[in-house]
Formats: sequence, C-alpha cells, structure tokens
Amino acid sequence: MISVEEALERILSRIGVLGDEQVPLGRALHRVLAEPAVANLDLPPWPNSSMDGYALRSADTRAASASAPARLAGAGRVAAGQVAARSLVPGEAFRIFTGGPLPEGADSVIPQEDVTVEGDRLLIPRAMAVGDYVRPRGEDVRAGDHVLEPGRFLGAAEVGILAALGRSQVRVVRRPRVGILSTGDEIVDLGGRLGPGQIPNSNTYSLMAQVREAEADPVSLGVAPDRQADIEGRFQWGLGCDLLISSAGVSVGEHDFVKSALGQLGAEQHLWLVNMRPGKPIAFATIPSAGNHALPVFALPGNPVSAMVTFELFVRPALRRLGGHSRLLRPVIQARAEAPIANPGRRRGYLRVTLNTDGAGGYGARLTGEQSSGILRSMVAADGLAVVPGDTTIAPGDPVPVILLRDVH
Ligand code: AMP
Ligand code: MG
Repeated sequence: MISVEEALERILSRIGVLGDEQVPLGRALHRVLAEPAVANLDLPPWPNSSMDGYALRSADTRAASASAPARLAGAGRVAAGQVAARSLVPGEAFRIFTGGPLPEGADSVIPQEDVTVEGDRLLIPRAMAVGDYVRPRGEDVRAGDHVLEPGRFLGAAEVGILAALGRSQVRVVRRPRVGILSTGDEIVDLGGRLGPGQIPNSNTYSLMAQVREAEADPVSLGVAPDRQADIEGRFQWGLGCDLLISSAGVSVGEHDFVKSALGQLGAEQHLWLVNMRPGKPIAFATIPSAGNHALPVFALPGNPVSAMVTFELFVRPALRRLGGHSRLLRPVIQARAEAPIANPGRRRGYLRVTLNTDGAGGYGARLTGEQSSGILRSMVAADGLAVVPGDTTIAPGDPVPVILLRDVH
C-alpha cells in the first residue's frame, strides 16, 4: 500500500503541460498564459492630468498665496483624446480634463475647484509643485517591462492589463480535453429507461462537473456494459483526448473488465492500493501515443463518493498540470472539530465535513453524517475533506486540516 503523496508523485511524474493556442483576449479569462506579456509602449504613453483643472508652469505660481494669488491667462483647452494645439508659454494656463495629455511647457495641474475665474484671468491661490496632479509617462508600465510571465493564471486584472498593452490576441495553454466513460451493466444514462436492478448514471455528470471546475473540457464517452470489448471500444473513441477517466469495474470482481480493456489498448498500468478511505485501488495507466506525451488514463472506483474523492486527490492535480496551472492542489485550511471526527479504519480518511465560521476568523468542521462511499449526499453537504490519520478521532476543539472543495463564507 502506498501513500496518497507517493501515488500523486508517480502520476505527476508522467504528465507534462499541453501545448498552447491563440485566443481572442475576450476569451482569455481563467486561461493560463503561455508567453510573456512584454510592453511595447509606456503606460500612460504621455504625462496626463489626474484631475479636471488647469495645466500650468509651477514656476509661475512660486509666490502665490490666498491673499496674493498668481494671475494666469486662460490660453486653450485639452480634453482626454486631444492634444494641445501649441505649447504653454509663461504666464498661461490651459484648461485640462482628466486623462488629457499635459501640454508642452506645463509641469503641474491645479484642480478646478481651487481656481477662481475672474474675467479672462485665472487666480491660483497657492504655489504648485512640479508634478502636482500629473500622472507621469510610464508610471504604470514601461516599454520593455515583462508585465506577466508564462504560467500566469489570467484573472480579470490580468485580462485588463493585456488589453491596456493593446493585446487583442494572447497565447494560452490548451485546455485539456477529457473523455469520461462510465461502466456497469446496472448503469443507464440519463433519458434511458431503467430496467430491473438498474440505476441512473451519476458518475459521468459529477466527473464532468469536476473536470470543468479544474478548468478542463469534458466529453462523455457514454456508458459501457461490463464487457471488455465495449469498454475498449469506447476508450478508443476517446484516444484523441488529453486524458481519460473511467469509473467502476476496476476492482477484482468477475465483472471488472476495465483493466483488461486498457491492457488491450497497450496501456502501461500503474495500479496501486492507496492508503486512503474512501477509494479502492486506483488504476492509473498511460497509453503510448503518436504525440509527445503518453495518454494518461484514470480508472476510478464506481462508488459515487469514491469516484469524486479520488478525482479530487489524483485527477484534478493531473489536469491542472496538463493545463499549465502552477497551483495543482486545492487550498487546505486548519479548522477545529466542532464535534468528534472519527476515522475508525486503518487507512487515512478523507472525511466529508461542513465548515462554519467560528466568529474569530477560523472555521469549525463537522462531519456531514454517515461517511459510506455510496452516500452522495455526504458530498452534497461537504465544504471540504477533513484529512484524518487511520484509527484516530479528532476531539472537539482540536485542529484538523481540511481540503477546501468550495468557497465558504
Ligand atoms: P463497481 O466499482 O463496479 O463495483 O461499482 C461500485 C458501486 O458504484 C456500485 O454500487 C455501482 O452501482 C456504483 N456505480 C458504478 N458506476 C456508477 C455510475 N456511473 N453512476 C452511479 N453509480 C455507479
Ligand atoms: Mg460494477
């Protein structure tokens, strides 16, 4: 039996980052940048006003005070999107608006509310300093700056700055395409009629959703009955994907054909008994392919909770690696048990808990109830997975690490 960490290391050592593609900036949110974003211009491109007011030469106001204001001649105007028709000469001020380029000859701006207009004169009641209310050229970005590095996850601000740099297209890492196969004679896909002893396919849908949460694109390969040839055929449909996932049919039961189907496809199998609960053996295989990388395949257990939890621990980091993300793992917080959190088995438990704010900036964790791997409602209620060593009970008030599965408030 190997540890979760060891299994994850063996998986990640066989997975590399996908190639990249060009997308319009409007579709770049939550993608991973695949090239450096280097500025080819200064931002702002010229000094400009941060206020609506008057652009002037500070030297003209050196002796100004409220009782003896400087008197300047109004000489023109510059709004944003315009440039001054001529330079400012001593004794003048230009009307200027926020974002307007500072006229040649001006070195500062006085806000309009501080100025008194007297006929064709502007009364400036104080001495201005060079640079007052001026946003200098290049104060945000300088030409040549590496503003974003490859591997950067693009949030709203990153998209904004790429636009500010004039980038209408960007190169990003491809999103992994993930084929998902459910197996089992008893599994009927949505829309199908349930015969005796049959249940609806839920794993395909929870796994597709988890794939999306990992910033990848799922493709359903449908449901295969417990027959090796059917399983193999559906895996074959998915050979153009970047990663494959199956659920069920991977234990040692006589109806478990996933491993033999993978064997027929030439997969090199890495099957491990991992020290965790829920989750049976995890089959991880790689199918040699024509491309640079072998195709990774995860054969997950069939129990709905086991499938979801093993996805979180093993498949999600693999997908994040493929997609070029630097953060492969979900965040882990230290919570405190609100009631005993018992893990009676020998294996390390990944127990479903709800989290409640404790009013002091921390979180209290409480089991969602019965932890059997068939109880999907334990996942529905779960904010996270409490990680508890085997044969251990976390006493109320004691700390427990929790893998966050969603935002908690
Ligand atoms: P298995 O791994 O084939 O022994 O399946 C374990 C349990 O998971 C069985 O109770 C199956 O009925 C259930 N199961 C397997 N596949 C699915 C699925 N796609 N949706 C819902 N339950 C499933
Ligand atoms: Mg089965």
